[in-house]
Amino acid sequence: MNNYKLLTPGPLTTTKSVKEEMLFDRCTWDQDYKDITQKIRSQLLALAGATNEEYTVVLMQGSGTFAVESVMNTAITDHDKSLIITNGAYGERIVKMAKYIGLTFREYSIPYNEYPNEAELRSILDEDQEITHIIMVHCETTTGILNPIEVVANLSKSYGKTLIIDAMSSFGGMEINVPALGIDYLISSANKCIQGVPGFGFVIAKLEKLLTCEGNSRSLSLDLYDQWKEMENDGKWRYTSPTHVVAAFSKAMDELIEEGGIPARHARYQNNNRILRERLEKVGIHAYIAEEKQSPIITTFLFPNEQFNFEDFYSYVKERGFVLYPGKLTDVDTFRIGNIGEIHEEDIQTLCNIIEEYMGVMAK
Ligand SMILES: *Cc1c(COP(=O)(O)O)cnc(C)c1O
Repeated sequence: MNNYKLLTPGPLTTTKSVKEEMLFDRCTWDQDYKDITQKIRSQLLALAGATNEEYTVVLMQGSGTFAVESVMNTAITDHDKSLIITNGAYGERIVKMAKYIGLTFREYSIPYNEYPNEAELRSILDEDQEITHIIMVHCETTTGILNPIEVVANLSKSYGKTLIIDAMSSFGGMEINVPALGIDYLISSANKCIQGVPGFGFVIAKLEKLLTCEGNSRSLSLDLYDQWKEMENDGKWRYTSPTHVVAAFSKAMDELIEEGGIPARHARYQNNNRILRERLEKVGIHAYIAEEKQSPIITTFLFPNEQFNFEDFYSYVKERGFVLYPGKLTDVDTFRIGNIGEIHEEDIQTLCNIIEEYMGVMAK
């Protein structure tokens, strides 16, 4: 049945045991099911290095974007002003949300292969004292750049701002100590580094902040506060919850812990990523992001030459068992390879053999 592996950063390749959890139909108001929800919430809190005195977890139906929008919509009022840092499509999607909601914001946009500049950020914060919130994507999945979360977190702390981090493609695959960084809202989803299937996102929220958000939401279904209130009560979701997805996620969480937690998963992803970049470099396929800024999650590669045809390459690799990702840049021709999910060194070595073979055939 499973005739190819996904090298895309969500949905991604999951284990058979995670998929098997979905073979049973669960009831949303049954205690066993509500217990699964509560178990997941406390496991997520632990992964974030947080305690329930200071933080809480809210699960939100939909893809990751819905969870980000629920935060933008609930945590920011008409009296606030946001500073949105962008160097990729996901940061730009947050700008789009701000426009839809009608928020007051300022965008600090930088080239896709560069980091936000600390001095520039300081001068924006010094000059524009109306800013109340800072929003940034951690791993920009558009390119695979890993944004400097500590730098921005320290600035946010010293200027006393509310910090919102889209850690969709990094949380669970890299250590992110949410309380130590002083992150107020961290957003991720079921189908990325935790290795579940798509269907809901989650928010790790500082209680002190979330408690002030009652009545802020301009949307009923994306009201993060109301969603929390109901879930906090006894583990019941507001409206139908994605029961199969939640069961699979619970299993995926247990498997993450069995693997050795975030340090072990991070090491596996890092190893996958290093082998991939080193071996492709040898056949003339270069990464777009400089090594020191590269995440261990997904890599953008430049087309190796003028003759390179992505569709042909894609089919060649797919027929041999792996699905890749097209690029998302407008100015250069690129494609992307994700290395998260149930992907091990053998898979990456096999993939690199296939790509080497393809490049050899193309050269003839
Ligand atoms: C995957 C992802 C999202 C959410 O995308 P959905 O398609 O809505 O799940 C948001 N931000 C980043 C950085 C992502 O990688």
